[in-house]
Amino acid sequence: MTTYDVAIIGSGPGGYVAAIRCAQLGMKTAIIEKYDTLGGTCLNVGCIPSKALLDSSHHYEDAVKHFADHGIEIPGEVTYNLEKMIARKQGVVDTTTKGIDFLMDKNNIDVFHGMGSFKDATHIQIEKDGNTETIEAKNIIIATGSKPSSLPFINIDKERIITSTEALTLKEVPKHMIVIGGGVIGLELGQVYKRLGAEVTVVEYMDRIIPTMDSAQSKEMLKVFKKQKMKFALSHGVTAVERDGDQVVVKATNKKGEDVSFTGDYVLVSVGRRAYTDGLNLDAVGIPTDDRGRVEVNEHLQTKVSNIYAIGDVIKGAMLAHKAEEEGVFVAEILAGEKPHIDYNLIPGVVYTWPEVASVGKTEEQLKEAGVAYKTGQFPMRALGRSRASGDIDGFVKILAHKETDEVLGVHMVGARVADLIAEAVTAMEFRASAEDIARMSHSHPTYAEAVKEAALAATEDRALHV
Ligand code: FAD
Ligand code: NAD
Repeated sequence: MTTYDVAIIGSGPGGYVAAIRCAQLGMKTAIIEKYDTLGGTCLNVGCIPSKALLDSSHHYEDAVKHFADHGIEIPGEVTYNLEKMIARKQGVVDTTTKGIDFLMDKNNIDVFHGMGSFKDATHIQIEKDGNTETIEAKNIIIATGSKPSSLPFINIDKERIITSTEALTLKEVPKHMIVIGGGVIGLELGQVYKRLGAEVTVVEYMDRIIPTMDSAQSKEMLKVFKKQKMKFALSHGVTAVERDGDQVVVKATNKKGEDVSFTGDYVLVSVGRRAYTDGLNLDAVGIPTDDRGRVEVNEHLQTKVSNIYAIGDVIKGAMLAHKAEEEGVFVAEILAGEKPHIDYNLIPGVVYTWPEVASVGKTEEQLKEAGVAYKTGQFPMRALGRSRASGDIDGFVKILAHKETDEVLGVHMVGARVADLIAEAVTAMEFRASAEDIARMSHSHPTYAEAVKEAALAATEDRALHV
């Protein structure tokens, strides 16, 4: 039996990045994945395929709605081929997952395909097609990720009542897609199918969409989505989902306590995800999970069993690929005797709709609740030359800074390419910059990034230049 310094269960962005860092630090490393391809949710049925479809549908929408504004004329009707679009997406996924095979190989990481389960604290049994093998590891990292969650009364039939996984491989564009949950998945995939011609109705329990982000972003995005003709039923608690042939009915109760129903041909259930530990046999090692099924860890991401760690979606915190990656590196460096650090306040959140939405640090609601004295600087994208040149005028950059010290406490954006712009805010906040620090830095012209400087100027002394 081979003995490893570290074995990692799960090959998502948490697991495979942990494996690479462990190998870089000289550890003999194994990774175990139950599926045939590496990369986990993110590469196979999450971040990458959803962005591929967002990009394809965005091109189509531009061709139909915006090319003419730029003087580009396409004789005849612009059409799309859904089968080709989905095949392209799969091609992107295949290339990306093969890239992980290459990285494992390059770093001399042993890859085992099969279901991993604990035999004891240093042995993992790997089962595939009735065959079992056991490996020994001094340290083990659980990186088993998450699965879509649902509501207790919903039967996900994977045909008409679907999760994000099925929504990435539909064979037809829905006539009317009812999206339960106006969070990240609902808005990203809802926008994909809206662009391709579906009627889309989002039924959301809270009184605003993307409820964990700053409320200014929720308001702006609601306005933008409504302009794009997406429909919203906010403050609606779903009570039942019924299927009759090709038709689905979603029943809900609104704020006034009235019963309402929505009829469509597909329902996308996007009410969050849950930690996945099925089949791991955690009982064999006595590792507890919390009330939401997440593996319990201490501040070193160590479980109750000292040589077993857990990272990513399977533990507490934001379910984001880059959070999982940071944790993978963190645990590898702890195992190597280093003293790494993660500032969870500075893990950015992004929604890849168009316009994009991006946030880091505290929201205005959180600062109010914590009683922190703050000031706000906000700058509209429409005031930028770059935005007018491209035609992407929706959105803003909002900077929240401490009232006395001017330290940047939160940055919230809506607009073209803000998924990339947020990196400037993260860097500034990592270095504990003040709004004035950002305001005094040169930003190339004309760029969307100028909105960050202008918002910082507005926060510093209410002296934005271009409004
Ligand atoms: P996962 O990626 O879930 O990987 C866990 C792996 O462990 C899986 O491959 C699983 O098969 C394997 N596994 C589980 N149990 C076992 C076992 N017992 N034995 C062997 N293998 C096992 N995040 C972003 O940051 N940006 C985005 O744009 C984004 N888009 C998303 C879009 C969608 C539609 C979805 C669903 C998610 C998206 N996410 C995004 C979230 C992101 O995918 C997750 O946060 C991320 O994948 C978590 O990484 P992980 O390594 O913790 O787990
Ligand atoms: P989410 O938590 O973002 O949104 C779920 C939404 O469903 C919330 O707005 C919630 O209020 C609503 N909801 C809950 N119960 C409801 C009910 N009974 N009726 C109506 N609405 C209800 O979850 P998600 O969109 O499913 O995404 C899951 C996870 O995947 C998230 O944690 C997210 O971080 C991750 N993800 C990230 C990205 C990205 O980074 N761009 C993209 C997709 C997914």
